[in-house]
Amino acid sequence: MLLNSYKITRTLPCLADPMKIRVIADISDEIHEVFPYLNATLKGCIYNHPANTLTIKKDGKLFTLHAQHITLAKLEDEKEAEEILGWLKNLINETYENRNRIEPNFSKGEELKALDIFKLLPGTSCKKCGELTCLAFAVKLVGRDTEITKCDLLFSEKYQAKRGVLLEILVAAGYEVPNAGKEKIP
Ligand code: SF4
Repeated sequence: MLLNSYKITRTLPCLADPMKIRVIADISDEIHEVFPYLNATLKGCIYNHPANTLTIKKDGKLFTLHAQHITLAKLEDEKEAEEILGWLKNLINETYENRNRIEPNFSKGEELKALDIFKLLPGTSCKKCGELTCLAFAVKLVGRDTEITKCDLLFSEKYQAKRGVLLEILVAAGYEVPNAGKEKIP
């Protein structure tokens, strides 16, 4: 067995939908060894091999596996989180046990594109981030040459909905992002 146990350690408002919750669970064992095998057997994963993260999309929800913790987004309550964590634990252990019969997949799968980011930026090209246009900022962001916090406008109330979706997408793709108060979140 690769993963023996998990424990919910933080429950926060969901970035994309404040009516839902985001849960962080610490896990008893390092699980990154199973990521390329899960990436090979599940559809639509986002695998970031250098960052050791794998995001699984299921029923419109996002579950991101890190080497030592798991984050779950867009959940109704902690009961749902416990059910999903139980499902993930079984999935991780079964896939690990069967790994000799699976061809590992180290590809990134769905890659984050600058245009996807651009659509969720304010679109005013105000230049306050130091770039001439929002599209130029999006290109730099996807290449990790700038940080989302440089777009002050995005963190205003007017853009709360767009910001939430964009931060979820960035987290799912293995980027480190801040919360609405610009504090770094796990
Ligand atoms: S600060 Fe934000 S809105 Fe202004 S140009 Fe940069 S990305 Fe666009």
